[in-house]
Amino acid sequence: MKLETVIGLEIHVQLKTKSKMFCSCSNAGENAEPNTAICPICLGHPGTLPLPNKQAIAWAVLTALALHCEIPRHSKFDRKHYFYPDLPKAYQISQYDEPIGVKGSMTVVMGGERRTVRIHRLHLEEDAAKLLHNNKGESFVDFNRAGTPLLEIVTEADIRSPEEAGEFLRELRLIMRYLGVSDADMEKGHLRCDANVSLRPEGSDEFFPKTEVKNLNSFKAVERALAYEVKRQRAVWEETGRAPEEQGTRGWDEDSAKTVSQRDKEESSDYRYFPDPDIPELNFDAAWVARTRREIPELPGEVRERFVNEYGFNPVDAKTFAADLTLARYAEEVISELKVWLTSRDPEASADEIWERDKKKLSKLLASWLLSKLLGVLRAAGASISEESITPENMAELITMVYEARVNASNAQRILEEMLARGGDPSDILREKDLGAMEDDGSLVQIVAGVVNSNPKQVREYTSGKAAVFQYFVGQVMAKTRGKADPVAVSKLLKKALAK
Ligand SMILES: [Zn+2]
Repeated sequence: MKLETVIGLEIHVQLKTKSKMFCSCSNAGENAEPNTAICPICLGHPGTLPLPNKQAIAWAVLTALALHCEIPRHSKFDRKHYFYPDLPKAYQISQYDEPIGVKGSMTVVMGGERRTVRIHRLHLEEDAAKLLHNNKGESFVDFNRAGTPLLEIVTEADIRSPEEAGEFLRELRLIMRYLGVSDADMEKGHLRCDANVSLRPEGSDEFFPKTEVKNLNSFKAVERALAYEVKRQRAVWEETGRAPEEQGTRGWDEDSAKTVSQRDKEESSDYRYFPDPDIPELNFDAAWVARTRREIPELPGEVRERFVNEYGFNPVDAKTFAADLTLARYAEEVISELKVWLTSRDPEASADEIWERDKKKLSKLLASWLLSKLLGVLRAAGASISEESITPENMAELITMVYEARVNASNAQRILEEMLARGGDPSDILREKDLGAMEDDGSLVQIVAGVVNSNPKQVREYTSGKAAVFQYFVGQVMAKTRGKADPVAVSKLLKKALAK
């Protein structure tokens, strides 16, 4: 029997508003001493009243729109009751039957194929407190997190493999960062995910009892836990010809790399939802929603597309740029500075003309100098692109120098390292350290001839077939030019001289 994997995700995203969802406490409590970012409202003291955070609602609508959701005219907050030590009021303010967004979608690209995953709903709620356990069997509660605004995003069961689930989450994280509503750092719990998984015979549109996998705190954990569940359920199908009967909630245990059965999932009736009488209904004005829609920034998919179409990057490089908003913005600044440099060198042509003429070479140079060389020196120095001392203008000048062959690649690399170490202009460093390319080909021809003539023994070895000697000649010429010659030109001239 051919089986198909059916996965749906339930994702929680912490919003990085200044204050909490229903009180004015700081929302940066994760960096503060436990139980210092708290007040009677988020501690659920009797007689306190929640006041919804306007920014959180605006961001929820913005995110829902970015995920192509419809925004119903009305929305409201409900109380979801359950008893747990991390829940001071013994209910959570959430949204039940009137969420902020419905019927959305998000597209991921898997192996070159575009896959659309429908979004069932998006709603806003408050986070619970955090339980901390020590190794003496004691437990503590940190209420700093209680009341943090949380978006819950529920997908339809449209995901067809564990890898696709991972890709969906990575793309969602990126969208949150582009929207500026959350850092969506999974390790820090800003982005949390539960996954529902079941199998069914291929071609069937029936749904079978599903397992809910909880406790997934990294992209890797999501993919590994789902792969484990798929394997476990497949074994049951293959043995019995039927779906596993007892499904329910399973926790992912990273150490044993297994999912283990937990409590059965509550039905929504167990929560005794009812509208929160303390919070007025939300009524979204169409003009306000339209205005919010216009505030959606360019999203990662659009950036990738533009980096391919406008700048000529290949799709893999475009994806790498878009995966880091700071890097993508930096690259765009470098490109615009590069255009300024190019026009200053060739006033006859416009920057765009020069760009179009040499798009392939320029995009390759940019990808190489930004993604591999710049990120390389930053990584080696333990620095990141946001704090580095290389301005886009200086980076663009360095790339122009390489583009115009005024410096060879290895000396340009040395200049780049200097630029990071002490800042400054690449042309100053080049002049100061005398790293410029040899301008006159005639003198290089003479140096090559000199090296060949003064090493008759090596020439004999080379002509008798010892090809490795060639590198010796290259090394001699590079040393004589103090590393300034272009190694490709040196090889060419040497081959010519040695063939005589
Ligand atoms: Zn508070």
